[in-house]
Amino acid sequence: MKSRVLREILKEYGLDFYVKYVYCGKEKCRSCPHGPYLYASRREGGKVKNVYLGKATASLLAKKDEIVRKVLELLMEYEIKNKQIEEEFKKKLSDLLQDLLSQEEHFD
Ligand SMILES: [Zn+2]
Repeated sequence: MKSRVLREILKEYGLDFYVKYVYCGKEKCRSCPHGPYLYASRREGGKVKNVYLGKATASLLAKKDEIVRKVLELLMEYEIKNKQIEEEFKKKLSDLLQDLLSQEEHFD
């Protein structure tokens, strides 16, 4: 799966990542802007929480990608199981209703 697609899926679950440069505000700072830094934004209820993850080095970005991949594997596994449960439910429901609706009419 392309990383853009993965990102869109995660966003639906309230998780996103972004890289940012920061101005420290110190007078005469020669290294502004600082960074790049990696952040995660997490939507919880109606609020968005931003979490600093560290300097956006190649290894941190790779670690982030690895975790994102694992999270998506979990989500896919969950959705597959969910679908199976739903199908099982529909089948059982249909069997039960079939049973109920196939009663023969008896007139005493
Ligand atoms: Zn600075």
